[in-house]
Amino acid sequence: MAGDPPHSAPYLPYGRQAIDEDDIAAVTAVLRGDWLTQGPTVTRFERAFAETVGARHAIACANGTAALHLACMALNLGPGDAVVVPSVTFLATANAARYCGAEVAFADVDPETGLMGRAAAEAAIARAEAAGWRVRALAPVHFAGQAADMDALADLAEARGLAIIEDACHAVGSRRAGRARVNGGGANGDGDTVAIGACDRSAMACFSFHPVKTIAAGEGGMITTNDDALARSLRRDVSHGMVRDAAAFQDKEAAFGAAGGANPWYYEMPAPGYNYRLTDIHAALGLSQLGKLDRFARRRAEMVARYDERLAGLAPLVRHAGRSGGAPAWHLYVVLIDFATLGKDRAAVMAELRVQGVGSQVHYIPVHHQPYYRARYGRLDLPGADGWYGACLSLPLFPAMTDGDVDRVVAALERVAGA
Ligand SMILES: *Cc1c(COP(=O)(O)O)cnc(C)c1O
Repeated sequence: MAGDPPHSAPYLPYGRQAIDEDDIAAVTAVLRGDWLTQGPTVTRFERAFAETVGARHAIACANGTAALHLACMALNLGPGDAVVVPSVTFLATANAARYCGAEVAFADVDPETGLMGRAAAEAAIARAEAAGWRVRALAPVHFAGQAADMDALADLAEARGLAIIEDACHAVGSRRAGRARVNGGGANGDGDTVAIGACDRSAMACFSFHPVKTIAAGEGGMITTNDDALARSLRRDVSHGMVRDAAAFQDKEAAFGAAGGANPWYYEMPAPGYNYRLTDIHAALGLSQLGKLDRFARRRAEMVARYDERLAGLAPLVRHAGRSGGAPAWHLYVVLIDFATLGKDRAAVMAELRVQGVGSQVHYIPVHHQPYYRARYGRLDLPGADGWYGACLSLPLFPAMTDGDVDRVVAALERVAGA
């Protein structure tokens, strides 16, 4: 190895939250107030989020996984149904369909971007139909913060009568290329890009505020939609399936008193939901962080540009993953490494980076390889997902990093590559 890494430099994980004193003050203010669980801060967070992405409704929930599950429930997915899910994603995108008893039709991804395109979605639909499943929805993942090709996928979904649930857990603050198609509450379009979460071409978009994501709530999730009926379903199922809207009560005799008004204690449960509520404590942190989203996204974009420039000399051995356009709020910085030519496997590269104080991670093991899904669906041939998995490595990317930190990661990678 050429030159020793500086020993005093702190370890850089692949991602971490950026919490300031004002975030802490926002949380402690809630702790001193009247509400700990779902209260006025959750409502404020929902309103602010809906406004940020330009959606009519935003429903807060416990985490991104709950958001995806609630979205599948809102579509009434069940046994015999199937959801098309790109195999390069976190487990939760697929598991959400299974929570409802629906099948997962794994789709291949572009090995350069990790994104599911229209052709891969069509191939997954064909396989699902051959298996006798009724395909109901597409669940594109905006991997690393880059948008999937929503126009192509939405055209396909419209032609086939499918719903789209966007897994936007990586894409808080991202904008996709394209013109907004205004519907419902309208899309937050500037003419050339549309905010992810505007749902102008999808039924729902699901977000996560896990600490490694673009903004942190501790744990937290959000679903956006422009559809009033879906919003009602999401609000019901996020809290046990309870209905308190008098107009929706089924048992009129029990619901209404002699004077004709709804009984003050009364609620109904047409079907069981979950306790997937967000707390005001988490919402306070999420709301405070939402105010910094633009700054975080800008800083991430600056670091991505610096990585791109500094890493250019290592190509083609190490190159940045492909680009899909739009204005991503980058969640991950992924490089694709030719390990065979390098003569080192990924475990060795990760270990050599680690001793230099540089964390790295693999996003993701294709979900169709998980023992549960392999047992359920057998071995699938998804060469794009395998190609991506064989080459990908996520490098540190979080707003508190300095330009010097980026350079330190690049220098560490250069030593690993013997450059
Ligand atoms: C983080 C993540 C989820 C799940 O979010 P949680 O808040 O951790 O439950 C789902 N899908 C993707 C792509 C994610 O990155």
